[in-house]
Amino acid sequence: RRDTLLYLDGVTKSFDGFKAIDNLSLVLQRGEMRAIIGPNGAGKTTMMDIITGKTRPDAGEVYFAGETDLTRHDEAAIASMGIGRKFQKPTVFESHTVEDNLRLALAGSRSVFGALFHRRTSDERRRRDDILTATRLTHRRNARAADLSHGQKQWLEIAMLLAQDPQLLLIDEPVAGMTDAETEETARLLGEIAETRSVVVVEHDMHFVRALGVKVTCLHEGAVLAEGPLDAVSADPRVVEVYLGR
Ligand code: ADP
Repeated sequence: RRDTLLYLDGVTKSFDGFKAIDNLSLVLQRGEMRAIIGPNGAGKTTMMDIITGKTRPDAGEVYFAGETDLTRHDEAAIASMGIGRKFQKPTVFESHTVEDNLRLALAGSRSVFGALFHRRTSDERRRRDDILTATRLTHRRNARAADLSHGQKQWLEIAMLLAQDPQLLLIDEPVAGMTDAETEETARLLGEIAETRSVVVVEHDMHFVRALGVKVTCLHEGAVLAEGPLDAVSADPRVVEVYLGR
């Protein structure tokens, strides 16, 4: 369907006979932000690994932006199709400034040296400024990444992801370790990003998931246990049981 950006169809992945992902199906619309929750071991990371091509499923298909079955492509090809992933652990260059980190990300495949000394066009400059604004980092553009707050470092990671101009952003626990104020700001920031892109957020922090205000999918044993608004999902007896039963 036209409105569908990502469609996981009956995806299964076993590790040594253990089904980490068990006939999982999931549909994400264009322009949708989805929160993925679920207890440890539910399969959230493996699902992200399958979408990005880091892990190949044993069965099932992953359709992206129409007919493309991602399971036939490798990680680099999938990234170039417009899927960007942010891991929980920051990977910024600590000794570089915010702006230089972003410059490197915008340069993409150019060498580090080439990226820093490349003459920038006004178009590139505008993109950089837009991304700094979107990620609340304009006033910190000349700060070294090492001197950013934990939250600002996470936002810089999101900025570097936006530099790749992905259609779909996969974000793993963005607010872990953030202050309450940073957490709220992150919910707003992602909401703005989702006005023009699709976003999948894996998150344990239920206050944050509530602030996102989007459809929630609860995974358990590699399959969808419940899906819908957070209030409905968190009141679902099966969801209550898997969270309490741990
Ligand atoms: P989550 O991210 O929801 O905590 P994971 O996707 O990391 O869950 O893991 C799902 C299950 O698959 C877990 O039981 C985990 O131990 C297992 N698993 C994940 N990756 C591997 C691997 N590379 N080898 C063996 N088992 C794995």
